[in-house]
Amino acid sequence: MSSTALYDVTIDAPMGWSLISSGARVSAAPVVAGVRRERFVSGPQREFYLGATQGLDQASATVDGTRVVSHYQADDAEAGRRALRVAEQALRAFSARYGPYPLAELELVEGAMTNFLGMEYPGVVLIEQKLYKSAGRGLETTVAHEIAHQWWYSLVGNDAQGEPWLDEGLASYSQALYYEGVGAPELAAAELNNFRTFFSESRQRGRDAPLATPPSGLRGNYVPVIYAKGALFFHSLRGQIGEAAFSRFLKGYYADGRYREVAGPDLLRAAEAACGCQLDQLYADWVLTTAPVSLP
Ligand SMILES: [Zn+2]
Repeated sequence: MSSTALYDVTIDAPMGWSLISSGARVSAAPVVAGVRRERFVSGPQREFYLGATQGLDQASATVDGTRVVSHYQADDAEAGRRALRVAEQALRAFSARYGPYPLAELELVEGAMTNFLGMEYPGVVLIEQKLYKSAGRGLETTVAHEIAHQWWYSLVGNDAQGEPWLDEGLASYSQALYYEGVGAPELAAAELNNFRTFFSESRQRGRDAPLATPPSGLRGNYVPVIYAKGALFFHSLRGQIGEAAFSRFLKGYYADGRYREVAGPDLLRAAEAACGCQLDQLYADWVLTTAPVSLP
């Protein structure tokens, strides 16, 4: 688990390489022939990301004072600009649903991730290059998921090794909330359907597990449990406490957890505070045991 800190980073880089980082660039000047020194500073952040790239193009836009930049390979200009539009929409949708995004910048970088579709850092998300080269909603859904991690992991922190369901479950559910937020309820429903199918197939094979299971206890069923069952837990919570209380829960959980590290019981308390009700049974069934929960 990484605690939130302020960063002040100075790096010398060869000319011809571009640096992308979590912080804001405050200076850049040549030091010796062929070498440039750059300094980056940040507000409160959980980690510092620094990437060096060559030959990427970029497109940018501003959303409520945040500069959003999409970095993409020259061959993928159309998809790179599409990723920018998705990032703008996601930033608006999640800021409205959860609370404001506090950083001055949000950068998307097309990269070779190989084993992952995306990876999140404070202020920077990396997106696998094959998504830029294929049709379908993979790019849009992945960009929305990784941007949701700005709230769930980067701002509200948790032990990603011990309780990955907290950030991955809510980032996955955010895929549906994103489509709701952009006025595409049928695509939100399709996301939920995918989670239902994915988790119930795994459960039918006897591979259910409590959400509060560390990755070491989830060999071969990490994704169906942590992502799919995790997302469905939030949908079940929403069904049980209702629309107004669920909205209060999302905003309260973010406001209280911002810049801190939370654990499962903190999420339970935030939900109970939002609804003024007891949720021990729901929490026990989904998070602590493998009770045969009905899928929402
Ligand atoms: Zn994720």
